[in-house]
Amino acid sequence: MESLKKKIQVEGIVLSSEVLKVDSFLNHQMDPSLMKQIGEEFAKRFRGENVTKIVTVESSGIGPALMTAYEMNVPLIFARKRKSLTLKNDVYTAKVFSFTKQEETEISISQKFISEHDRILMIDDFLANGQAALGLIEIIRQARAHLVGVGIVIEKAFQAGGEQLRRRGIRVESLVRVQSLKDGKVTFLEEVTA
Ligand code: 5GP
Repeated sequence: MESLKKKIQVEGIVLSSEVLKVDSFLNHQMDPSLMKQIGEEFAKRFRGENVTKIVTVESSGIGPALMTAYEMNVPLIFARKRKSLTLKNDVYTAKVFSFTKQEETEISISQKFISEHDRILMIDDFLANGQAALGLIEIIRQARAHLVGVGIVIEKAFQAGGEQLRRRGIRVESLVRVQSLKDGKVTFLEEVTA
């Protein structure tokens, strides 16, 4: 997605050879017109899959996931990272090791919002080692729902997550794939167009 690549080139900050900061348009301040384009792109790629619900993890996946849900006219559910007083026992949970925080958290989704009849599209802002995705996949498995695929805004292709998910036969659609963050520079993987 060219507009997203441009935005990353202009505004992205390479914090290290592993971490890209995009807090001016995705992770803190958000650019609504870019989020809208992102939602349209995911909706286009997964149209025809009869998606019934979008799932993501709070908080940085919510922007792109909500715009996708709006475009596909289905609800969005975001997994919560903390146990809230209103989220009691009837929840599916999974443990997730956070790449950016370097700590384990538990994510949960209320059982009333996903069922075996659902066809779920998972959306997230970044794909690094795939921990967040694997946690959500575990929750989808517990609910006996069907995972249609995973939509990622920025895949860091030099980390293991993408390959791990694709090897399991999961359809992963990334809007941009970063090949390297070496020497303070963002290099994208060339897209192969069919
Ligand atoms: P994973 O679970 O795939 O290891 O990591 C994905 C999660 O970690 C994303 O939801 C995102 O919030 C965070 N993350 C991973 N890598 C980066 C990065 O380079 N920059 C930012 N801003 N977040 C990242």
